[in-house]
Amino acid sequence: MSLPTEGFSFRVEAVDGDARCGELETPRAKIETPAFMPVGTQAAVKGLTPDEVASTGARIILANTYHLWLRPGAELLASQGGVVGFMSWPHALLTDSGGYQVFSLAKHRTIDDDGITFRSHLDGTLHRLTPEEAMRVQTLLASDIAMVLDECPRGGARRDEVQLAISRTTRWAERCLATEPAPGQARFGIVQGGAELDLRLSHLHTIAALDFDGIALGGFSVGEPTAQMYELLSQIVPSMPADRPRYLMGVGTPADLLRALASGIDLFDCVLPTRNARNGQALTWGGRVNLRQARHARDESTLDAHCDCSVCGTYSRAYLRHLFKADEMLGPRLVSLHNLHFYGSLMRKAREMIRLGLLRPWVETTLQRMQERDEVGGLDA
Ligand SMILES: [Zn+2]
Repeated sequence: MSLPTEGFSFRVEAVDGDARCGELETPRAKIETPAFMPVGTQAAVKGLTPDEVASTGARIILANTYHLWLRPGAELLASQGGVVGFMSWPHALLTDSGGYQVFSLAKHRTIDDDGITFRSHLDGTLHRLTPEEAMRVQTLLASDIAMVLDECPRGGARRDEVQLAISRTTRWAERCLATEPAPGQARFGIVQGGAELDLRLSHLHTIAALDFDGIALGGFSVGEPTAQMYELLSQIVPSMPADRPRYLMGVGTPADLLRALASGIDLFDCVLPTRNARNGQALTWGGRVNLRQARHARDESTLDAHCDCSVCGTYSRAYLRHLFKADEMLGPRLVSLHNLHFYGSLMRKAREMIRLGLLRPWVETTLQRMQERDEVGGLDA
């Protein structure tokens, strides 16, 4: 069915328990869901060309408004065809609001009911991020999907702090929606509420009543135990509007993705597959592989026997380990490519299993296999 913004539609094609698979269409791409969005923080998925990113199955990536606003600047990007034109990415783009990075990176930030004042972590210059400014900047970045400005309470925040963040997030969501929409740009609302189920559900009710094209869950994976996150998701996600895409922001590990999509999440993003790759950690169907370990020094086997990516089809573990030991830039590049391919394959396989009605047993056996062979010491380590 059509979403509120012209040019966008979302169709659920199969349901298996709480999980669903379908297709999100934007003016630039058709995205099969559940889908993983690689993170291209500064208009680049670190180390990879757009062609390489697309070869992993990705049809939408995420870029960070905070970074691009400060450098090279939103007006410059607008003059270069937006982020997509600038970086020659041929598919869809989602931008965050900038708020999360202001909280985690900026210096001397002060938040009030109207917005956030902060100093750039690059040069100390003073900036002001309001709901209206977050939407204006994302209009210039020309993403397919813009996120509203929200306040994400810190992990372990007290209930009254969470309540304050929720009421700000609601007022800011309304202000974001009141701005003039950019043609061809959808807008997603964000639900907060920390680890408090009742606050999450009531905030979901509030945000779902607004005219957003999709609904996101923010403020997960901020230090709470994974079992608690899975439990909360299983109780919240099935209550999210079924006819709009559901996005879990900034999560996570392969296990997190499988658990969350089993609860009905459609979209994910996370820096984990590319960040861990740069540290020599590969994510595979057999759990995590730490390529820096001596056990791989003479290992002629492929990184992942069940992976059909070009890295696994070409190179040995011994060679990949050597690249990391010798600090060759090819190492991070190749493992980033494999890790994103693995995430793309996880999503592809999950969609297939949902269509067959076999998702639950497949998730259990897949996680068990990863757990048994994980080199880092169990998936919860
Ligand atoms: Zn591979």
